[in-house]
Amino acid sequence: ELIIQLSHDRPSHIVVPALHRNRAEIRRIFLDHMPDAPRDLTDDPHALAEAARLHLRRLFLNTKVAVSGANFAIADTGGLLVAESEGNGRMCLTLPETLISVVGIEKLIPRFSDLEVFLQLLPRSATGERMNPYNSVWTGVTENDGPKHVHIVLLDNGRTKALADHTGRQALRCIRCAACLNVCPVYQRTGGHAYGATYPGPIGAILTPLLVGIEHAPQLPFASSLCGACYEVCPVEIDIPTVLVKLRHDAVTAKPHKAQDATFAAAAQAMGGRRRWTAALRSARLLRLVRHAAPPPLSRWTRTRDLPDPPPQPLRDWWAKRK
Ligand code: SF4
Repeated sequence: ELIIQLSHDRPSHIVVPALHRNRAEIRRIFLDHMPDAPRDLTDDPHALAEAARLHLRRLFLNTKVAVSGANFAIADTGGLLVAESEGNGRMCLTLPETLISVVGIEKLIPRFSDLEVFLQLLPRSATGERMNPYNSVWTGVTENDGPKHVHIVLLDNGRTKALADHTGRQALRCIRCAACLNVCPVYQRTGGHAYGATYPGPIGAILTPLLVGIEHAPQLPFASSLCGACYEVCPVEIDIPTVLVKLRHDAVTAKPHKAQDATFAAAAQAMGGRRRWTAALRSARLLRLVRHAAPPPLSRWTRTRDLPDPPPQPLRDWWAKRK
């Protein structure tokens, strides 16, 4: 988060927000935006971690008001839990005088004892650890210990709307472990920024349209090959492919694509008869003339890449000549 904030960047991964930065870039960001970074800072990971640690510690010790999230909100005790690896979360929770915790309403779990399950699921699926190095639970204010004022903001922001969607509501079970991102072939090639939203990857492709409305993110459910790897790895068994298909249906119902419909109708005509299909394959050779600079609307494609090179002759013609 520090790297992202300093460089005014956006996170590309749920668990590792600066995954897209290498250590040379991180060194440059620290030198440019962190006045207390040592001028002889190297890109050695230990040196970078130490510089970040010293910088953050000074901030935590001098900050009056802190804002945090939480991984779980516990209904029977009123407690909140943050699970983390570095310890900076615990400093944020305990050192400032006032703590404001902003928590999505789907983070509520009924009982403290339910943490037994979730605190096993989360680290094992997120980082492969048996437990998180830091699990911090806070329940209101305790005299002479931690913040003097605690405010909890329960955030809806589209979650009630998502709950009303009978197929999509399962996305609210997500515990943000990012296992689905790590196995997704689309995420692996595009990275997280391509999703253009807070939550990238397969869970982002369903959660974002559910939270903001399909009309504001109609392309996201199509950012998937529907291979099912996300469903297989998800520790809370969210059937992401089924939700994706449902959201695709919502997207095309909300805004029909006339050009796409016309393309498929033309393809159906061409494929509907043997002669028509053979003629279409032969005429595909004409694409060679425009494969580097096609007329609109194909020009949007050829501005950045070439159209596929059609073979000099269709298979049927080649086969007929061999006989
Ligand atoms: S959808 Fe499942 S695998 Fe993906 S982040 Fe959420 S809990 Fe983890």
